[in-house]
Amino acid sequence: MDKTKIKSFQTTLENMAREISRQANEQDRRAIVVETSAEQCEQDVLAAQRDMAVQSLSRRTRLLRDVNAALARIREGSYGECLECDGPIGERRLRAVPQARHCIACQERMEGSSQCSFRVQWAA
Ligand SMILES: [Zn+2]
Repeated sequence: MDKTKIKSFQTTLENMAREISRQANEQDRRAIVVETSAEQCEQDVLAAQRDMAVQSLSRRTRLLRDVNAALARIREGSYGECLECDGPIGERRLRAVPQARHCIACQERMEGSSQCSFRVQWAA
């Protein structure tokens, strides 16, 4: 991939990292509001809100980690290579998911297996 394209992916990733941090700050403020209005809320509603906040926080944390890892790969010069098979991730996929760590074939294989462990977790 040429330097101009990598540069544009870098800009996209940097914007994503900024946006995720901004959302994180907003969510923290909302969480505080939930805490202070606890008396008016049913306990289970409050618990559900907290669960949702935790879930979206961990989703965001994962995303931010992936974005930062992609920026690190740009610096190392290995951006756009699949971490699993070393093949090219593909420009179309990177345009849709600039923080992608794996090519589509590896990603699909891994999503298949992670869905299994997800079901096992819920069944347990
Ligand atoms: Zn791969």
